[in-house]
Parts: sequence; structure tokens; C-alpha cells
Amino acid sequence: MRGMSFVIILVMKLNVYADNAATTKINEEVLKVYIDTLKNHFANAQGAYKAGVESKCIINNARHKIAETLGSYDKEIIFTGSGSEADNLALIGIMEANKDKGRHLVTTSIEHHAVLESAKYLKENGFMVTFVSPDENGLVSFEKVKEAIREDTVLVSVMSVNNETGVYQPIDEIGKYCKERDIYFHTDSVQAYGKISFKDKLKYIDLLSASAHKFNGPKGVGFLYVKNGVNIKPFVHGGSQERGLRAGTENIAAIAAMGEAAKIADENLKENAKKVDYLYDLLKKKLLEEIPDIKFNGIKNAGGIGVLNICFKGVEGSTLLIHLDMEGICASSGAACVQSLDEPSHVLLAIGLSEEDVRSSIRLSLSPYNTEEEIEYLARVLKEKVVYLRSMRI
Ligand SMILES: *Cc1c(COP(=O)(O)O)cnc(C)c1O
Repeated sequence: MRGMSFVIILVMKLNVYADNAATTKINEEVLKVYIDTLKNHFANAQGAYKAGVESKCIINNARHKIAETLGSYDKEIIFTGSGSEADNLALIGIMEANKDKGRHLVTTSIEHHAVLESAKYLKENGFMVTFVSPDENGLVSFEKVKEAIREDTVLVSVMSVNNETGVYQPIDEIGKYCKERDIYFHTDSVQAYGKISFKDKLKYIDLLSASAHKFNGPKGVGFLYVKNGVNIKPFVHGGSQERGLRAGTENIAAIAAMGEAAKIADENLKENAKKVDYLYDLLKKKLLEEIPDIKFNGIKNAGGIGVLNICFKGVEGSTLLIHLDMEGICASSGAACVQSLDEPSHVLLAIGLSEEDVRSSIRLSLSPYNTEEEIEYLARVLKEKVVYLRSMRI
């Protein structure tokens, strides 16, 4: 019997989802709200009849739940169709609306493509953009952002937490400085919202993007926090939904589900962070102990994030990912949206990795849903595969 259970453990395969920076599993309670709303509340929220008013109420309840997590006014929350859309609206909406004040935008070279491509679009359309580079730890320094700011700077956009390295950026310092200078400050918090509290930070933030599917809500819905009084223009033109900033019939069910997901995330912030940090430390320790020649890209400087970006010297990252997949492990080489292009990560290149090291790097992103058993499995399979792939090299 003893021998038999030993064999079973050896061949036991787990399914481990370690790509939470790409998307997360929907929470069961959130799913209930999603389905219930979809089933029972189809009336257009603009309808003047009872059912329409009910739909409107559901939307405004969700708005209130999100505002509570931020300590903002309800009307400062603008629903969008994704985190990408929220980023686009922030950058393009602010620059277009404030042309008379100036045409200069400051952002960083490690932003998500939703911000980078919006900035490039603006650059091609008569605006000027400065992209600030990070240091070798993946950190964009406040000093460098400060140096990039000019007389005609209208907006500074710096992400809260980088999606590839998990590094938390100095948004408090940057936001405070922008406020003193009367410059708008936007932060892409898609990777941070629901993991970090923004209640004390909001006073320095004019615009903040988030996306439901990154905090256990459904896909295809996000929001942009727009501070009262901020001068911004819509780019989806049509009806007067969302204070005229985002036309289109509201996705009532997705919005309701996002509100619930926000509330649940906020209530469990500390507990979740504790669990994720524990799993993160455990995995890091195991990998460092058992696999030689590895390097962690970016520093860990905030709790609750759970992103490990690891360079396994002499191993092709894309091959390693296939081997992990065969063992039931979902991980990635970086941002989900650019993997298909097979381009080396702009973030890892920006923090100074050689192209070879970038290609040897993979990202594991944990969530409170992961277990200790999964971490043990992850470390064991990684060791096995890295040793194997290194031995295959000529
Ligand atoms: C995922 C992500 C986005 C895009 O959000 P979507 O809802 O998938 O469009 C933007 N910024 C960051 C940092 C992200 O991680």
C-alpha cells in the first residue's frame, strides 16, 4: 500500500492556474449576480417605466459599491467596456479636451499597450509624448518623471503596478507633484485595483483605470474614475449614458457583477494579500533553493500582487511554457495580448535585460485561489523541466 501511494503521488497531475495577471477566474457570488441580472433585468436603463428604472438602479448600485472601495463620489465612476477602453478614454479624452493648455503627455516605457498605443496615436495626431524609462529593478523613479514634465505638460500617466513584473510604481509622489503643478495625473490600476487600497491615494489621482476581469469579475467591463471637475472629452459619441462620456446601452449584468466583484475584493483585501504574499514567498524560496542560475526580474515592493517574472538562464521560455502546459500549468511569457506577435517583452527590455534573457523569462502570477499544494507542484515541475531543457542543449 505504501509503495502504491508513492507511485500515485509521483504521477499525480494538478491543474494550476498561474496566469492571474492575464485574467482571473470569476468569483462564484459574482457569477450569481451576473446570471441573475442577465436573466431578470433586460430593460434598457434609459426606459422611463418601472423595469427601466430598476435597471438604472442596478447600475447605480454597482457605481456606489465601486465608489465606496475608492472613497469617491458615485458620479466619478464611468463604466467602460474594458480596462483598455478606460486607458484610451483617459489619455485621448484628456489631451483632446485640454489642447489650449498644452499638448505634452508624460508616460512610461513600461505601460500596458492600451496606454502605449494611445500615446502613440496621440503622437501621430499633433501631440508630444515623453516616455520615461524604468531602472533595472523595474521602477520608474519620481525624479525622472519630474524631469520629463514641461510647461506645456497636460497629463502624466504612470501605471500603479506593472503587469509583467508586479512592481509597484511611486504614484503617490508623482501624483502629489502633479497636483501642485496643476497637471492631470492618470494611473492605470488594472493590475492593482482589488489588491491594493486606493482610499488614501485618491486625493492625488485625477483618473484611474480598472478592469473587472482582473479582480474576479467578468470580462468586457471596466471603469474609469474621473475626479469631479476634470476636463475630459468622450470619444464614443452617441447617447448621454455615463454623463455623456461613454455612449451606448449599458451592459447591466456585467456592471452589476463588477460592482459585486469590487465589493468582495475590497472586503478581503488584507486577507487576500496575506495569502498571496505567503504563496509568493514560498514559491520564490523553493525556486531559489532548487534551481541554479535563475534571476527574478523586477523587485517586489508591494504586498498582495503575486507576480513572479523569472529568467531561467539557458532555457527557451516559450518551450518551457509548452512543457508546463503539458503538466497542467498555465503560465505566460508576459502580457497576454502580445504573446502571439512573438515580440520580446518591451517591459523586460526597458529594465535592461538582454534579448536572450527576455526570451528565457516567464511570468507566474498567483491569486488567493492558489493553494500550497499547487505551489509545491509548480516548483517541482519547474525544476524538472528546467533541468531537462538545459540538458537538451548542445
Ligand atoms: C489587463 C490590463 C489592461 C487591459 O485591460 P482589459 O480589460 O483586458 O482591456 C490594461 N492595463 C493593465 C496594466 C492590464 O494588466
